[in-house]
Amino acid sequence: MLFHKLAKVFEVIESKSGRLEMTGLLAELFKEASAEEAERIAYIVEGELLPPYMGVDMGIGEKFVLQAISEGSGYSRKEVEKEFEAIGDLGGVAEKLLTGKKQQSLHSEQLTIAYVYAALMKIAKSSGKGSQEEKIKRLVELYHNSKPLEARYITRFVLGQLRLGVGGPTILDALSFSEKGDKSLREGLDHAYNLCSDIGYVARKFKEHPHRMGEFKMEVFKPIMPALAERLANAGEIVKRLGKCAVESKYDGFRMSVHKKGGRVEIFSRRLERITPSFPDVVKAVEKLKPEEIIFEGEALAFNEKEKKFYSFQETMHRRRKYGVEEASGKYPLHLYVFDLHYLDGKDYTGKTYAERRKALEKIFPKGNLMLSDMKVVDTADELQGLFDKALGMGLEGIIAKDLKAPYTAGKRKFAWIKLKKSYGKTMDTVDALIVGYYRGKGSRTEFGFGGLLVAVYNEKKERFETIAKVGSGFTEEEMGKFAEELGKMKTKNAPADLDYKLEPDFWVKPKIVVEIAYDNITKSPVHTCGEEEGKGFALRFPRLVRIRDDKGPYDVTTTKEVRGMYKQAG
Ligand code: ATP
Repeated sequence: MLFHKLAKVFEVIESKSGRLEMTGLLAELFKEASAEEAERIAYIVEGELLPPYMGVDMGIGEKFVLQAISEGSGYSRKEVEKEFEAIGDLGGVAEKLLTGKKQQSLHSEQLTIAYVYAALMKIAKSSGKGSQEEKIKRLVELYHNSKPLEARYITRFVLGQLRLGVGGPTILDALSFSEKGDKSLREGLDHAYNLCSDIGYVARKFKEHPHRMGEFKMEVFKPIMPALAERLANAGEIVKRLGKCAVESKYDGFRMSVHKKGGRVEIFSRRLERITPSFPDVVKAVEKLKPEEIIFEGEALAFNEKEKKFYSFQETMHRRRKYGVEEASGKYPLHLYVFDLHYLDGKDYTGKTYAERRKALEKIFPKGNLMLSDMKVVDTADELQGLFDKALGMGLEGIIAKDLKAPYTAGKRKFAWIKLKKSYGKTMDTVDALIVGYYRGKGSRTEFGFGGLLVAVYNEKKERFETIAKVGSGFTEEEMGKFAEELGKMKTKNAPADLDYKLEPDFWVKPKIVVEIAYDNITKSPVHTCGEEEGKGFALRFPRLVRIRDDKGPYDVTTTKEVRGMYKQAG
């Protein structure tokens, strides 16, 4: 398939934001594509070459892309820079300048998707000395063979600026449509995707056997999408819903999915990043486990041996580092509380009940640094409340009640797990939201250059972000300085393409940082777009910053559906 076809689809998608239209366009592409092409299309649409946990990065910045456009088009660097200033998007610059290529290539060929993908992969893979020159050379080669529209998207892709606003769910819908003309194959696709978190691999397997996705098997070293917890207001409601249930402590650290096969161990974060190199201590402990093959999940917390108490979440996060790993391991020894089993010696455990998974876990984990989460089975609201109070007394965040009969609900927020957390002021919960913009400081805050944040949650149905609060408090002076510095580097000319908004901040930023926000209650407001109906959206009243959530990515923020649930729950 020609790459131009894909570029054409991107062009139409950019001008339309309707999910149905996007789905239809992508479905047409998938219908025509071979299994291999489908795999590549799925990755490219997501702005990736491989799933993010494989850590493939283009490693090429604006400066070098500018150079490549200059070499590819025959325009001087100065001329290219001038265009960049005027257009503000190097994709647009490449498209414009390559239209009137000063140096026409003698042997320009039609680009296929396979060719472009392979070329991009080579650009990504070249590393070490002389790699920048090599990357530029390969990009110039691509430009020589590309049509202007292709150059636009190739450029944005290499810069990580494709941002079509097409998420995983739309791609999965499109695959189903490509085969059946409706969404009926989506369940099997979801099943496969939740077990491997690899959209390209799923697309390829689907093209090979569209009706056999239900049989998709997990594999060690492919991370599983984490199961998520629902929320209810109190112990009584939880017991009403679950009846007899398991109650585990809710540890406030970071989640790890641990994979072992023979002598190899890999660790993935909640965002499915490969974080193995940061945790040699965990790797060592896991190597000693008896099973040949295992995938399990737990929450890691740094423990202060001297004072016999947990370090704070912020201190625990010091362990998530690339450098100074040994030193940090010594200073912040980890306790890993294992709470779930997904796979054991060739057997998928995600379909088994919680009770069965827990029983198997109890056999595997001896006492030591790797340990099981606290768990008690309860029958009554009083017992559950007692465990909740005890957890808070121990400095923990709360409890998670678990349905004894439920399977592991990979990638889904279900009532198989229900969390009950300590109260932040008037509410029992917080919202995790994405920073999309910020305000200049006024009055006493002028000196920090920072006055607050505009934050958004995610509407999964629409695949759009929607604003929910302007956050002006909860910052220490140090944090204000840091936000001003960090966000200052992330400024963009326009709002994120997939954001619905009414309020405009002083500066838009690249939507990357997730923050946890406490609030008093949820109200309806004409200035926010979260779950908007009749001109009013949900808004947080008295929002204040709790902390930055480094362990969460943009798509892990609280969803509009959850906010609606929290609004209703509060009555
Ligand atoms: P929150 O923002 O409430 O911490 P979250 O958005 O990170 O939650 P949820 O699914 O809502 O994710 O809450 C479950 C989280 O709690 C898990 O992601 C996990 O990191 C953590 N956790 C701590 N202890 C446990 C436990 N015993 N069982 C399951 N998850 C646990």
